Amino acid sequence: MVTIAVTAEGPDEPRVAVSPETVRKLTGLGATVRVETGAGRRARFSDDALKAAGAEIASTAAEAVSGADVLLKVRRPSVDEVRGLKPGAVVAAILDPYDRAGLDPLAGTNANLFSMEFMPRTTRAQSMDVLSSQANLAGYKAVVDAASLFGQALPMMMTPAGTVPATKVFIMGVGVAGLQAIATARRLGAIVSATDVRPATKEQVASLGAKFVAVEDDEFKEAQTAAGYAKPMSAEYQAKQAELIADHIKIQDIVITTALIPGRPAPRLITRAMVDSMKPGSVIVDLAAERGGNCEATVPGETVEVSDVKIVGPLNLAGTIPVNASSLYAKNLYAFLELFFDKKDKSFRIDWDDDIVKGTLVARDGQIVHPSLAPQSA
Ligand code: NAD
Repeated sequence: MVTIAVTAEGPDEPRVAVSPETVRKLTGLGATVRVETGAGRRARFSDDALKAAGAEIASTAAEAVSGADVLLKVRRPSVDEVRGLKPGAVVAAILDPYDRAGLDPLAGTNANLFSMEFMPRTTRAQSMDVLSSQANLAGYKAVVDAASLFGQALPMMMTPAGTVPATKVFIMGVGVAGLQAIATARRLGAIVSATDVRPATKEQVASLGAKFVAVEDDEFKEAQTAAGYAKPMSAEYQAKQAELIADHIKIQDIVITTALIPGRPAPRLITRAMVDSMKPGSVIVDLAAERGGNCEATVPGETVEVSDVKIVGPLNLAGTIPVNASSLYAKNLYAFLELFFDKKDKSFRIDWDDDIVKGTLVARDGQIVHPSLAPQSA
């Protein structure tokens, strides 16, 4: 019988890696699910609800992991937690694998470490894609937070007392978070525009009723990798883009930035001079804050005011909606673990040749094995 352990996250992480729904599904596969007491509290999954779904409640993290075959987490577990598992156990979490100082000691435990942020962007892996499930919520919350900080209403309102003009919202980076930010800002009645370096986004922006703003030269036409991500752009392109953005940003009220390039610091898209050019009372929410920020004036984890512009640098926006974020994250993990279960004989085994296993496995037998963590690409 396979035992799956779930322990509580640290003080800065309100999400949890399991929900009553996934406990039911995992026990349905023949597994025992052992959850540390209180682990789901901040996501409103009480011990009682998890127990009613079939989980065992452990009184400490050490008890939860003791001899377990699998550990599910949101963030990187501690080395002690992983050492408590069976030798060669499976650990699935957002491991932040480029931070080698944190990853290497975990790899040293000989556990099989799976990094959920490396999930391939394929149709088959869509239900396991934690970056998408969390970015979607973050894109929504960025607009809601910006709207609440902005001292004006978003939709145009025609009233007997006068007309309230619609707010202008500009979204920079149209991936999963950016698309949801566009949709949310449109629902709130704002006039929305958006930019990205990947040409495929132009049509997506238009289909959501927003205006696309970008330098569309030959480099732009080639800016998407085979994996669907953005390539780092040349200095020439960035200069042309910056000129266009500088003109556009002056007349915006709210800017949501989400631009990322895998494994690199976030591209700098908003300079201090651009911030200075914005209208007083404008708001920037920088979703790339965790990776250094798209705005030069962003302070990760803080809200600062520069030239009368509020700049928000959230570090875990999906975590501010922990109920939905945990439900979706837990479902992603369930879909991933389902790969390891043989439905007929209820056995648990890893198919090392599976694309999803190969794509997410970062460490095995004490070695870092993922190609994107090899010395030449580090
Ligand atoms: P991401 O978080 O890596 O980046 C966010 C956005 O920033 C991207 O759209 C990127 O093009 C953009 N960006 C990077 N540099 C920029 C710059 N200098 N200026 C402006 N924008 C810049 O992206 P993501 O949300 O993870 O999505 C990446 C792609 O993967 C998208 O095409 C998305 O639709 C696709 N996707 C596919 C699947 C699937 O098929 N299963 C699942 C999820 C996402």
